[in-house]
Amino acid sequence: MEKPRVLVVDDSEVQRAHVIGLCEVQGIYDFDIAENGLVALEKLTLAKYDLAFIDLEMPVMDGVELVRRIAEKKLVKSVIILSSKDPSLIMSIGTMAENDGLSVVGSFQKPLKGEDLVTSLKRFERGLAQVKTEQAKTDLTEQDILQGILKKEIILHYQPKLTVKGLLFKGVEALSRWHHPKRGDISPVEFIAAAERYGIISKLTIYLFEQALKQKSDWFSHGLNFHLSFNLSPLSLSEYSLADDIAAQVKNYHVSPKDIVFEITENALCGEVSKAIETLAKLRLKGFKIAIDDYGTGFANAQQLSRVPATELKLDRILVDNVATNPQQQAILKSTVGLSKDLQLETVAEGIEHLEDFKFIHQLNVDLVQGYYFAKPMAADLLIDWISHDLTGIRNQLTKDLTAE
Ligand code: C2E
Ligand code: CA
Ligand code: CA
Repeated sequence: MEKPRVLVVDDSEVQRAHVIGLCEVQGIYDFDIAENGLVALEKLTLAKYDLAFIDLEMPVMDGVELVRRIAEKKLVKSVIILSSKDPSLIMSIGTMAENDGLSVVGSFQKPLKGEDLVTSLKRFERGLAQVKTEQAKTDLTEQDILQGILKKEIILHYQPKLTVKGLLFKGVEALSRWHHPKRGDISPVEFIAAAERYGIISKLTIYLFEQALKQKSDWFSHGLNFHLSFNLSPLSLSEYSLADDIAAQVKNYHVSPKDIVFEITENALCGEVSKAIETLAKLRLKGFKIAIDDYGTGFANAQQLSRVPATELKLDRILVDNVATNPQQQAILKSTVGLSKDLQLETVAEGIEHLEDFKFIHQLNVDLVQGYYFAKPMAADLLIDWISHDLTGIRNQLTKDLTAE
């Protein structure tokens, strides 16, 4: 990953030096500084920067105004907002900037902490990866997606979720796949976003959920009962009929709602979300479970989390990947697991790719794990074989590794 070119905007020399020092620890050396908003604006107009640290309180053009101008002219893609004011104010300015189309990868009370910088930089890198996918975007039309549904080209794969203690098979997450006859594999990130744009996301959701239920009854008839997690787009949550439609579908297939977990991303819970919370509450009342997905990528605070009738918290790959070698990330992960426990949520660590990361997570109070280290998402007909063969192998190997220590 190329290191970003950074502009540090702060009127205090001490604070600028502090931010620069922390960046250098992370291997970032390409800096420029500005001591107020006006100078920053000039520099941003004349040269290209990837990331700007912005102090909110400055004598000449404050940070709030600067952020607004940056957003207006799209002068820099990502910003980190800093201030000595209270955290909720800083957060609300972050939300405002996001609404203006800026990617706010962090908003913190001063002085900036090393661990906050690490998570912000990870968000920044992920943002870059997303831009690349968007640039590679094929121009899917509404008709393409409708055809994909009609011809049943869009299907579900399933990724196992295991208990941390004993590596017992707990359930699967359904993830959609589309192998287009002409275009090849299309990422779900791309066609889900397109379906959202065209206003046909609910159609796609209902179609996929039907497939998941059919598969679940099929596994059941083979004597297998485990929980199934299904991703819901935040957009469909604002539709009032969703909870009832889903409940009717589940009844048709004689599936018990308590075996279904709906995953909803953390970001869907920020901002004006009363409709979404109402739908989630209805789903909970009907006995379904709710997971907060991608936790660690967004800005939901503890209070926003506690308003959601959730049963599970999924720690995003950002917090999990390479945690074994990064002490700052370890501190964040530990405190997040603590928060999840305080809210009485089942905790899931996602995106485990390395044994060392699993070993670290094993010592924490995490309930479930999911990741390429154990299994990639797979076609439904491969799952039974995976449970009876591969899982036993992984379990034996890990028991050896963990007891050898
Ligand atoms: P997600 O819900 O966070 O799903 C987890 C993603 O991480 C999946 O990507 C999965 O294949 C990937 N993953 C799992 N373990 C690892 C790992 O160890 N390392 C790495 N690098 N990746 C791992 P996928 O299948 O490409 O899906 C991407 C996103 O698309 C999902 O993220 C979800 O937000 C969305 N999505 C997929 N299927 C659906 C769907 O049916 N409905 C909706 N609304 N969204 C979906
Ligand atoms: Ca998910
Ligand atoms: Ca996730």
